[in-house]
Amino acid sequence: VCPTGALTEKDHTNQLIRDLADPKKTVVVQTAPAVRAALGEEFGMEAGTLVTGKMVSALRNLGFDNVYDTDFAADLTIMEEGTELLGRLSAHLAGDKDVKLPILTSCCPGWVNFFEHHFPEMKEIPSTARSPQQMFGPIAKNYLAKQMGIKREDMIVVSIMPCLAKKYECQRDEFKVDGDPDVNYSISTRELANLIKQANMDFKTLPEEDFDNPLGESTGASVIFGATGGVIEAAARTAYEVYTGKTLEKVDFEALRGMEGIRSAKVDFDGLELNIGIAHGLGNARKLLEEVRDGKSEYHAIEIMACPGGCIGGGGQPLHHGDSSILKKRAAALYREDEGKAIRKSHENPYIIKLYEEFLGKPCGELSHKLLHTHYFDKQNEIEVE
Ligand code: SF4
Repeated sequence: VCPTGALTEKDHTNQLIRDLADPKKTVVVQTAPAVRAALGEEFGMEAGTLVTGKMVSALRNLGFDNVYDTDFAADLTIMEEGTELLGRLSAHLAGDKDVKLPILTSCCPGWVNFFEHHFPEMKEIPSTARSPQQMFGPIAKNYLAKQMGIKREDMIVVSIMPCLAKKYECQRDEFKVDGDPDVNYSISTRELANLIKQANMDFKTLPEEDFDNPLGESTGASVIFGATGGVIEAAARTAYEVYTGKTLEKVDFEALRGMEGIRSAKVDFDGLELNIGIAHGLGNARKLLEEVRDGKSEYHAIEIMACPGGCIGGGGQPLHHGDSSILKKRAAALYREDEGKAIRKSHENPYIIKLYEEFLGKPCGELSHKLLHTHYFDKQNEIEVE
């Protein structure tokens, strides 16, 4: 079970059914990468069967006005987090003693919750980039809503997540504008499966449909966010090309993949050796964090995911009862989807390029900081389970 949020799992499916029936509301949905690799299991399909197109079809049948992809926002996360990584790295190489390294990934709210409670003295170290879920929300409500000609308050943004901590993340005050959440609420993979069953859809025979655009286009880099090591691999693909000005000959960073709880790898940035650490599971995260706190860490960047295997093993996914072979099949499905994508680097997503040109300006610019970044809190005196 997901290490955080599990005791207070909130089910918003009744709220969703009410919103879908409200003609005054435009209800849009985003779906996280790990969901498509596991949803089929709820309908008797083999673990690791990719059901992206059928999932999109099912969501349209349920009544969502538009079906988008959190992967688009994952590409956006890489633009922001990768820029932040390169900024800190460049300052470090220039001799800036105040720069905070390693940079820690920040897209897992279970992990964010953990360090706010257990390592609050290190709250300046993680990237300030919001999670993909929380990047999608403000882009939908500030950019997409304008394109669609609707008011922010008439748009409901729902997310389908492998995760229970994402439910809590939607409700954090810093992700609201005048009390209105950027993402109204989150539905888990299992809850979506129940909704599909209640609607009497024959999931296996549904047609394959495509996401809507502009927030439905994504690259292979964003798909692998769902597996441990995927976020840092996606970041490495973009950071390498931005830093060196060269095109990567091989986008697969095999050294960053795998299922060991703590892994490390060196990535060659054209002569600059980047030390990368990866941990999944909070016990493993604690070990790497203690090294950072004690000044013993030699990493430049660390990816941390709270759940074993990363989001493919999230607490909202079909239950796998600790069977690691199921997690491996889900991860393999995401790497297959990555391989099959025409574009495999976040900075080459044409809709991301357009979003910066039309709306955001530049990565880590003023508007990006306002909409796509966050800050963290010292919560050591608060009860941990929200
Ligand atoms: Fe949620 Fe993924 Fe983090 Fe698990 S690893 S808590 S599923 S974001």
